[in-house]
Amino acid sequence: MPHRIYFDNASTTKVYPEVLDTYKDLLTKYYVNSESLYDEGSEVHRMMEKARGAIAGLLEVNPDEIIFTSGASESNSLAIKGAAFSNKDKKHIVTSSIEHSSVLNACRQLEEVFGYEVTYLPVDASGKVSLEDVKKAIREDTVLVSLMYVNNEVGSIFDIDEIKEYVKKKSHAIFHVDLTQAVGKIPFSLKDIDLASMSAHKIHGLKGSGILVKKKHIALSPIISGGEQEFGLRGGTSNACVNMVFAKTLRFALENMDTTHVKSLKEYCLEKLGEMQGIHINQPNDAIDHIINFSYEKIPSEVMQNALNRKGFMVSARSTCESKELNTSYVLKAMGLSDAIASSCIRLSFSNENTKEEIDLFIQSLKEIIQQYG
Ligand code: PMP
Repeated sequence: MPHRIYFDNASTTKVYPEVLDTYKDLLTKYYVNSESLYDEGSEVHRMMEKARGAIAGLLEVNPDEIIFTSGASESNSLAIKGAAFSNKDKKHIVTSSIEHSSVLNACRQLEEVFGYEVTYLPVDASGKVSLEDVKKAIREDTVLVSLMYVNNEVGSIFDIDEIKEYVKKKSHAIFHVDLTQAVGKIPFSLKDIDLASMSAHKIHGLKGSGILVKKKHIALSPIISGGEQEFGLRGGTSNACVNMVFAKTLRFALENMDTTHVKSLKEYCLEKLGEMQGIHINQPNDAIDHIINFSYEKIPSEVMQNALNRKGFMVSARSTCESKELNTSYVLKAMGLSDAIASSCIRLSFSNENTKEEIDLFIQSLKEIIQQYG
């Protein structure tokens, strides 16, 4: 196989070797059920609670405010449906039109099956919601406001600090933030955020691993019914060793938040794309440092992705979770971009392992593809 270049880190990331090694060691040793009453079970339980405590310490919350899940999709479902089901007298939800499918589809299910009303806030050309629109949307019967911090397709950063202040001070709504694409990339504080979703595999951790931060005063109904695991909020035998290594993964992510390298790659790549005819950049100048979204209108995303794949590049078009269903990006459409642009977008997302030489190879391949197909 020719040399492959990975520019799809917003989709998932390579596991840190230290995380993998620790996981393998733990799994060999701690295979018993954390709920078992014999000594070995108590030991697994103790180790998992130690990890919960470490995560809580890193996030400056209490250990009983950390709920282990299988990833951000589950965390989002639990936050949204769990909050809705435990506050049955309020039937309105506010979210944005560019959330991840796990948020949008949870909201749609609440509308279609359970009679909720959902306001999907518009975004401007820079892919952001406005505080004014949030203010206008919130009503007396709004149970939840659910917004992402960083958009996974275009990397726009919502003004969460400004919005949370308003939601907390001026409304009774619960505030949920999908932090999946923000963790390890930009600083955040969980102050005044009631619920927050995170995923390990976006930060060089294991797949099938995530957390929902749930502040003490928030009531949730479980979505996975079962035993008393995770404070009765998530049934099922604990994925104990996976949960243990989440602590290490999160610590690495927060300790290595320096984005100087990926930022310089992004700037270099944007400069090179800017020198080419017919390339449209689909993101604001202040987008997150590791994501680039561009279109070359004459070549549809799928054709471009396949051509890039054949030249050794792993890239996305839309969010990977949507990519098999739609051929235009609902995020770009919501930003007011044309169908032609929204159906020809390509997303590059870098990690610290990428190099300037890889960008040069990419630009060269892109030029060849445009010459051949454009
Ligand atoms: N939210 C956002 C913003 C995401 O980018 C993703 C992953 N594409 C998710 C949620 C879902 O994460 P997971 O794969 O852990 O379920």
